[in-house]
Amino acid sequence: MFRTRFAPSPTGPLHLGHAFSALTANEMAQTMGGEFLLRIDDIDRSRSRPEWEAQIYDDLNWLGLSWPLPARRQSDHLAAYTRTLNLLWDRGLLYPCTCSRRDIAEAVSAPQESPRVGPDGMVYPGTCRPEIPPKGKVPLDTALRLNMRRALAAVSTLGCLEPLSFKETGAGPASETGLITLDPDALVHDVGDVVLARREMGASYHLSVVVDDAAQEITHVVRGQDLFAATAIHIVLQRLLDLPTPVYHHHRLIRDENGKRLAKRDDARALATYRAEGKSPEDIRHLVGL
Ligand code: GLU
Ligand code: ZN
Repeated sequence: MFRTRFAPSPTGPLHLGHAFSALTANEMAQTMGGEFLLRIDDIDRSRSRPEWEAQIYDDLNWLGLSWPLPARRQSDHLAAYTRTLNLLWDRGLLYPCTCSRRDIAEAVSAPQESPRVGPDGMVYPGTCRPEIPPKGKVPLDTALRLNMRRALAAVSTLGCLEPLSFKETGAGPASETGLITLDPDALVHDVGDVVLARREMGASYHLSVVVDDAAQEITHVVRGQDLFAATAIHIVLQRLLDLPTPVYHHHRLIRDENGKRLAKRDDARALATYRAEGKSPEDIRHLVGL
């Protein structure tokens, strides 16, 4: 079954960009006789609020969208993420990291090197990476990073000779489309050892999104171009965990009149603001170019 999803985080109001994403995912599902799912990405407990979640349901209903109930909420599946972290830990692919943002900034600002920026900001310089994988129980009171080099080695010894790749039916920021093949060297140097669990949060976005998309049997991930670079991480995790890789459809970003990306705090373009001004769902479609 063809299945798409819209996965907002309840950390602020939905704006025009979210509307575009949700409407696009829904339209693809309808066209294919498939299903459109909603998922509440509330893994970040410190920033998620029930009011924002309620507003998400309200805004999407107003737009005319519906989805099978109840929507999956990440906060209801924390055990599944912990299980997955354990699995990766037991295979020696994770290590604890105690670096602050500042530690990392200082480590990467060595005079001869210009800091590389990956999907999660500065590429981790490897300060805490151990020579030998740590043993024992997975520590849950510290951040955990994926050892990318070991992860790639593990993928290739899984007997999979196929290169790491995915199918893109939308486009990345540099118009990447079609079959996208990942370069292992780029994964090591330009993505690096990403965080899979945060200290106070448990699973990170990358880990939870991969677990969730598989659990919900999503066949087509529709989302903004800003997440194109992160897809490489998701493909590596899917291979490691023996999960299917969906088709990806990264869409253009909705910008304000100055060409700036809309941000969560950009209340002026919140759907609720447009509603309060008397705009209709049809007006919203026009505003985002649908
Ligand atoms: N929850 C993420 C966000 O709001 C989107 C996740 C995804 O579509 O993969 O940015
Ligand atoms: Zn560290």
